[in-house]
Amino acid sequence: MASGDSSDSSKKLQEQQQNESSTAHEEDFSQGNYGIMPLIQSKEKIDRQLIPVRDINEKSAKQTIWIRGRLHTSRGKGKQCFLVIRHQSATIQAVVCVSENVSKPMVKFATTITKESVIDVEGEVTLAPTPIESCTQKDVELQVKKLFVVSPAEPRLPLLIEDAMRPDDPTSDGAQAPHANQDTRLDNRVIDLRTPANQAIYRVEAGVCKLFRDTLDAKGFVEIHTPKIISAASEGGANVFQVTYFKSNAYLAQSPQFYKQMAIAADFGKVYTIGAVFRAEDSNTHRHLTEFVGLDLEMAFSYHYHEVVNTIGDLFTQIFKGLAERFVTEIAIINKQFPCEPFEFIEPALRIEYKEGLALLAEAGVQMGSEEDLSTENERILGRIVKAKYHTDFYILDKYPLAVRPFYTMPDPDNPKYSNSYDMFMRGEEILSGAQRIHDSQLLLERVKHHKINIDQIKSYIDAFRYGCPPHGGGGIGLERVLMLYLGLGNVRKTSMFPRDPKRITP
Ligand code: ATP
Repeated sequence: MASGDSSDSSKKLQEQQQNESSTAHEEDFSQGNYGIMPLIQSKEKIDRQLIPVRDINEKSAKQTIWIRGRLHTSRGKGKQCFLVIRHQSATIQAVVCVSENVSKPMVKFATTITKESVIDVEGEVTLAPTPIESCTQKDVELQVKKLFVVSPAEPRLPLLIEDAMRPDDPTSDGAQAPHANQDTRLDNRVIDLRTPANQAIYRVEAGVCKLFRDTLDAKGFVEIHTPKIISAASEGGANVFQVTYFKSNAYLAQSPQFYKQMAIAADFGKVYTIGAVFRAEDSNTHRHLTEFVGLDLEMAFSYHYHEVVNTIGDLFTQIFKGLAERFVTEIAIINKQFPCEPFEFIEPALRIEYKEGLALLAEAGVQMGSEEDLSTENERILGRIVKAKYHTDFYILDKYPLAVRPFYTMPDPDNPKYSNSYDMFMRGEEILSGAQRIHDSQLLLERVKHHKINIDQIKSYIDAFRYGCPPHGGGGIGLERVLMLYLGLGNVRKTSMFPRDPKRITP
């Protein structure tokens, strides 16, 4: 890592600039049009509009505009310096060329600006003589008139954007091209997040949350917020983080399960919540985080839990449709760095029973016990079979064996070894678990005893059902997994802005 802070870098650049001006033989007629901008401390309000780079096109030709962006690359060549300026995912070429308005020292100054510095540029938009293939704004360029460094970057970057932008598979971009490994990226996440693919990924992630909210709001759900500090582990104690709570201990919630159900018992009808979920699992896999974002929902139903299953199936259909409609540009940018088959889905969503799933696996030569849980590998195989047979990357597997589900799961009325529960899958990986929950306090107590759970610890949850509660069901979704699988990114750390896993809690 380079030492010194940004004010040191500022001073160095300023000194350099002064030296260059004083050694210049000719008078510097551009003085005042370039340099290091004094620290913006909100002393004055400048009436100036900064145009987003992505909005500059042929229609902007002949206009003189101001932009703010990062110096992506620069190349000095004789009396001119070519800059590529990046703002979020968009890039434009800017030319600083000796002319009646631009002095030699100004061009020299342009060549000394460090990559990733934040700069303000005033320039005239001109049509590019030939398309500029290296930029997103290919048909135009800026003829620079003024150039100021707003915030310099240290000269030695711990991660180069060009390296962070290369596909994971180095052979797809020439075997020699350096490409940053995941730890280097995550150690320097703020720089890594500046890549066009990351800029797009977190915009699509926001889109998933918005579509989740909008779809459920339209269906009459109420957004609620549930506590993350809890007094007892909600779903068994093994994978729960214990924290000091004044003179005693508390736990970090493994899911909002109990609270969303209590909201149903409190007559909210249909609820959802988006929030942090904590899992103290030492799982070092591509799909496990120790803190992830849970998209959880719970709803009262009239007479059959398939009302819930259909609601959730339609929710996913709306999310997939919305992403494909609203994020064409972002998905194309992401696919450029991380190529992937488009996500396929059918409407209404496919629902098959667990037993049918096992039969499909058996046909493919995979034998399993009828009450055994699906392994990750078998989930994948089943996903491939379903995709080949039904042409969908999303499906619902219904009626899991009771023994592999949590204590609050409603048993199947026709076969007590099964249950009214379901998982949902994207590209063969689980993204949702859900069920009809037991809303009868007596039956719930029986199941609590069967699972040998300490009743005292979950008394307030059980009490919620003693005063009447409508039949209800719901599910919990992992946001990072949904996005990872939709985009085919292969690792949940690519869809968590600052991921937490057993080996990483910084930055
Ligand atoms: P898995 O079997 O994959 O570990 P789980 O059965 O423990 O998951 P649930 O407790 O049912 O998962 O959680 C519901 C959803 O939350 C999962 O389908 C998944 O999308 C997400 N999820 C669960 N655990 C994690 C985790 N450690 N990291 C990221 N997402 C998770």
